[in-house]
Amino acid sequence: MDSVTNIMKYNEQFVQTKEYEAYRSSPFPEKKLVILTCMDTRLTELLPKAMNIRNGDAKIIKNAGAVISHPYGSVMRSVLVGLYELQAEEVIVVGHHGCGMAALNADHMINEIKERGVSPTVLSTLEHSGIDLKSWLQGFGNEKQGVINSVEIIKNHPLLPPHVPVHGMIIDPATGQLELLVNGYSQQETSL
Ligand SMILES: [Zn+2]
Repeated sequence: MDSVTNIMKYNEQFVQTKEYEAYRSSPFPEKKLVILTCMDTRLTELLPKAMNIRNGDAKIIKNAGAVISHPYGSVMRSVLVGLYELQAEEVIVVGHHGCGMAALNADHMINEIKERGVSPTVLSTLEHSGIDLKSWLQGFGNEKQGVINSVEIIKNHPLLPPHVPVHGMIIDPATGQLELLVNGYSQQETSL
């Protein structure tokens, strides 16, 4: 059975037996948090459990590497929507050890793109349009530095509401252990 058929079949059962009742919550985050983290499969259930986040507690934004590649892209917009429209009051960036996005190699991925049948003409057209695939597809090298970069972009964003703490953490994808890299409260105090 293919994935979609599996999902649809399971879903029918899920709704029929009212399993959703355990997950009912408000659209506003109970713990007033926006969390930006990685899409890594190991974190799907582990991260919320390890942080004691339940349905309704936080706005969780995910992408490859918890990266903000553009200060006016959809990730930063989501952070701002969480803070301005959805009553969140703090932001936590959570990276993780062994992140695939840290080690991402642009040349390797470009080769993969070609091998999977995308025509080289497409690639050269993109390059001529000013799209720098090499830097777009390059990993950030070091997981801790990746977290700090995202924290800095959020913290220094001109549209961030003043006095919003922005924290940075790194999680072990095997044990769920968290390390605090940037304490947004103490940074706030020193800037006051
Ligand atoms: Zn990752």
